[in-house]
Amino acid sequence: MTATIIDGKAYAATIREKVAAHVARLKDEMDITPGLAVVLVGEDPASQVYVRSKGRMTVEAGMQSFEHRLAEDTEEQELLGLIQHLNADPQVHGILVQLPLPAHMNSDLVINAVDPTKDVDGFHILNVGRVATGQAAMVPCTPLGCLMLLRQQLGSLEGKEAVVIGRSNIVGKPMAQLLLGDSATVTVAHSRTQNLPEVVRRADIVVAAVGRPGMVTGDWIKPGATVIDVGINRVDAGGGKTRLVGDCDFDSVSEVAGAITPVPGGVGPMTIACLLANTLTAACRTHGLPEPE
Ligand code: NDP
Repeated sequence: MTATIIDGKAYAATIREKVAAHVARLKDEMDITPGLAVVLVGEDPASQVYVRSKGRMTVEAGMQSFEHRLAEDTEEQELLGLIQHLNADPQVHGILVQLPLPAHMNSDLVINAVDPTKDVDGFHILNVGRVATGQAAMVPCTPLGCLMLLRQQLGSLEGKEAVVIGRSNIVGKPMAQLLLGDSATVTVAHSRTQNLPEVVRRADIVVAAVGRPGMVTGDWIKPGATVIDVGINRVDAGGGKTRLVGDCDFDSVSEVAGAITPVPGGVGPMTIACLLANTLTAACRTHGLPEPE
């Protein structure tokens, strides 16, 4: 069997178009321009790439982009001061603090300093609780993007066996909550899980969010399963070059799975599209307007 490739890039483009159309209407009819502030502390090369592309796509969607770059050795207090300032700024509807933060900062403290209504990453404890209890929330972008791809691919997820590999607060745990919200039967695996291949072989849906290149191989996969590969790993491609690969061994997994997301071009573009959608939602909620579909 050769798996269907789930084209996250194309789906993300349709979401961005819808967001842009809605933003244009907000501007024309209400004179409201949604704004997203992205805060980057330090020089992490991968974070710099993410922040650049988030800024570019924010502008392409017709929104205002505010970029704040702080030095690696910035005091935590200064970052908290900036967040307070952004919380109070009516032009800023969404705030994203790019993670990871430098080691001398308390990430939980920083994340929870963001106004929950502007927390477009969905990492504030209030939004985590709302997602867990099925209430209207800011939903973390990567798991939301994965859920959208799964719904598009499978329709209803009700009763499906889902295995999420990874239990981070950013991807694995919220992914599990969202799958549960869609009535899948959810198992969350992690580094201490025993007989992982056996656990994964039960799954109709596999979400791999580990950070280990090619860890999941075709013999772990139930024939016909849908595989969402969240991993973004940079590996040596020879000749002094590098390339991005996922947590799944694409060649062997795609021989067995029914459908699979590629890396790049799967989950990554969905994450940014969902960030823009969350910023639009935040702007609509702030102004008491109906939320985008
Ligand atoms: P973390 O490092 O925070 O979490 C990794 C998880 O994988 C942990 O729960 C860990 O278990 C588990 N794990 C590690 N080794 C194994 C193993 N051998 N077997 C089973 N489980 C294991 O990573 P993130 O959740 O932040 O990110 C995961 C991946 O997704 C990364 O490649 C990252 O780059 C990518 N990513 C992609 C995004 C996108 O937009 N596409 C967005 C965010 C992340 P334990 O808890 O026991 O340590």
